Amino acid sequence: MRRKLVVGNWKLNGSLAANASLLGGIVAGLDGGADCGVCVPAPYLAQAQALLTGSPVSWGAQDVSAHAAGAFTGEVSAAMLADFACRYVIVGHSERRAYHAESSELVAKKAIAVLDAGMSPIVCVGETLAEREAGQTVVVVRNQLGAVLALAGERFAQIVVAYEPVWAIGTGKTATPAMAQEVHARLRAQLAETNAISAGAVQILYGGSMKPDNAAELMAQPDIDGGLIGGAALKAADFLAIIHAGK
Ligand code: PEP
Repeated sequence: MRRKLVVGNWKLNGSLAANASLLGGIVAGLDGGADCGVCVPAPYLAQAQALLTGSPVSWGAQDVSAHAAGAFTGEVSAAMLADFACRYVIVGHSERRAYHAESSELVAKKAIAVLDAGMSPIVCVGETLAEREAGQTVVVVRNQLGAVLALAGERFAQIVVAYEPVWAIGTGKTATPAMAQEVHARLRAQLAETNAISAGAVQILYGGSMKPDNAAELMAQPDIDGGLIGGAALKAADFLAIIHAGK
């Protein structure tokens, strides 16, 4: 039986004072529910580690360099993230694919760097509205995940997948539970092409305007194992309500 997992993606938000208040509120309000974590901006990893060590809340980063070291100004390596005891690293978020021209091949290299450093990549896949309307959803997400699987081999069992339809991110539009479940089931079937037993254990999260009022219904679907949460992760009460909906 897979446990539910709810991970907050803070994106480009936060300050030392605001983070302390948000993380304090989350830790104080936790009362069972899904496993949970927060992916914070890299400068706040030390703060997250200090405030969350010993709590049930995991922490992680939102991106990573595909390179291990060297002349790559501004980049942060997987080993550096591991130094702060990150559990998760998001790779291939649609904002990075769109605004930083990240290809699926680069995303796959980043996922491997994360695995090599002993952490779990949260591999984001998802179609744009134009791709959905053109009937290309399944092929788009298959190609995005396939690039990671081609490099990961049997190590895919350590990844978390996040299906995030681009048209649903930050828009207030959510895929219906049935729409999301259909894609999640396809993704799991694709994982099973490598190893059916491991595929049954991989957590596949839904992301895209998941909120307290739709979280339970989405997470009730057989292949939706939790959520990757943007906007609603910035308010302790909303984030907690989503975590508690994952019981
Ligand atoms: C995200 O950015 O991963 C996300 C799901 O954002 P939101 O919940 O705000 O749609």
